[in-house]
Amino acid sequence: MTRISTLVATAVALALSASAAVAQTAAAKPTAAEANLNAMKRGVVEHVDGLAKVAQEAVDSVFSFGELGFQEVETSKYLTGLLEKNGFTVTRGVSGIPTAWVATFGSGKPVIALGSDIDGIPQSSQKPGVAYKDPILEGAPGHGEGHNTGMPLNIVAAIAVKRVMEREKLPGTIMLWPGVAEEQLASKAWFVRDGMFKDVDVTLFTHVGNNLNVSWGAGGGNGMMSVEYTFEGETAHSAGAPWRGRSALDAVELMSVGWQYRREHLRLSQRSHSIIVNGGDQPNVVPRNASIWFYFRENDQPHIQELWEIGNKMAEGAALMTNTTWTSRILGTAYPQHFNKPVADTVFANIQRVGLPEWSEADQALAKGLQKELGNPTQPGMATKLAEMGQPVKNEDNMGGGSDDIGDVSWNVPTVTLRYPSNIPGLPGHNWSSGIASATPIAHKGVVAGAKVQAMTILDLLTKPELITAAWDYFKNVQTKDVKYIPFLKADTPPAIHLNEAILGKYREQMKPFYYDPSKFPTYLDQLGIKYPTVRTTPPSPQQDEQH
Ligand SMILES: [Zn+2]
Repeated sequence: MTRISTLVATAVALALSASAAVAQTAAAKPTAAEANLNAMKRGVVEHVDGLAKVAQEAVDSVFSFGELGFQEVETSKYLTGLLEKNGFTVTRGVSGIPTAWVATFGSGKPVIALGSDIDGIPQSSQKPGVAYKDPILEGAPGHGEGHNTGMPLNIVAAIAVKRVMEREKLPGTIMLWPGVAEEQLASKAWFVRDGMFKDVDVTLFTHVGNNLNVSWGAGGGNGMMSVEYTFEGETAHSAGAPWRGRSALDAVELMSVGWQYRREHLRLSQRSHSIIVNGGDQPNVVPRNASIWFYFRENDQPHIQELWEIGNKMAEGAALMTNTTWTSRILGTAYPQHFNKPVADTVFANIQRVGLPEWSEADQALAKGLQKELGNPTQPGMATKLAEMGQPVKNEDNMGGGSDDIGDVSWNVPTVTLRYPSNIPGLPGHNWSSGIASATPIAHKGVVAGAKVQAMTILDLLTKPELITAAWDYFKNVQTKDVKYIPFLKADTPPAIHLNEAILGKYREQMKPFYYDPSKFPTYLDQLGIKYPTVRTTPPSPQQDEQH
């Protein structure tokens, strides 16, 4: 494994030429085209190192905005501003989503699309660099998933590649797009439906992780339908004339209880969960309206459809029992993921060239301190060995899990997801703990390493037409040979852009004073006055222990 120092450009050049030299003696002499590509890759890695400050400012800024799905207003303003400043052309409000956009540079084929999510997690406000629960603003949303790092990675990679494209006069188009409202799985299927990817040759998606890796074939985890059921009854005085009322809340509760009974008789691979969005107005008024929001997750399209239909039947049953009526609307959807082998092989070769970042003692202390704080049985700290390439998961072995609507993109154009080490291993996810590393040197170094891989892969795709052909050959003749994409959305299913409006309405003004100001502070840690790392030195008190 060749390690690349994140800062020393000469070391980069030496390391890369050393690995190229090894490759030369081991294999045949490289062709002129290969030698030229290697030189371009060395150049793009230098550019990425030179953009480390841009990466840090973008990572810290998006972290400080802490916006939830469909409310990524400051985030999108900042990211598109950064892209325009660097010569990209931006189209805003795509698919009827105010915070969605597409940015492009270059022209003609191939078209390489770079995507990553940008939204946060409710109630995950957290001071970065502090290895225990310590919110910046109690109750506020935050980046408890680490989605603040992916677009900065793509933007740095795109700017670096743009410089090489301009110098070498390389044809092709770089297109960047944000995963809006990924936590609601509520944008990418709409982008696909509305034609965002119709001219795209390859999509390089990226998602925060705790190693530098990639996978191919069917991923683990589930696809999903997100459906809100609303019941309508009639109000009445709850004490004076309850027999005159019909309770929508009763229907919601019966549907919920019915689903818990049915759960025992569902396939082991399913995941399903719900929240009550509206439970009525006040106790002395029989609730006329009530709503329950379900995520139905399964391994493949027919089983997702089946789970959704069980939900519809249960809503019908609950309405019959309570003499109410019901309607439903789609709030999100995600296809199961399938990643492209030739592209994943290319990414993996670049991963091996870049290697993991060098973690400082402070990085390791933060990681180990948090792993201890969470009661993990072992505290290995940050990853120091590259992971193997992820292999396909057979449908019958897939016991389910999370979803990502990149699945919809992956069934329409050859796609891979690059994972990069901007977070600490061993965290529960969707939790304040995932924000701890997300605006620290761990996140910054992980982004720079990931951007190098992303940039080198774009150069591979721009200069090797045979690679695009191989990607589409796999897509057409392997991936989609027997399985076809059957969209869950109709032509007129609207995006659920109302989601999270109330939460941001409540917190945005209070969050503004904590936005990162790069003109005044070198890093967000400096702005918050946080000593890095801040790790608990005394054992947690019993009360804090109970939070685990
Ligand atoms: Zn995510």
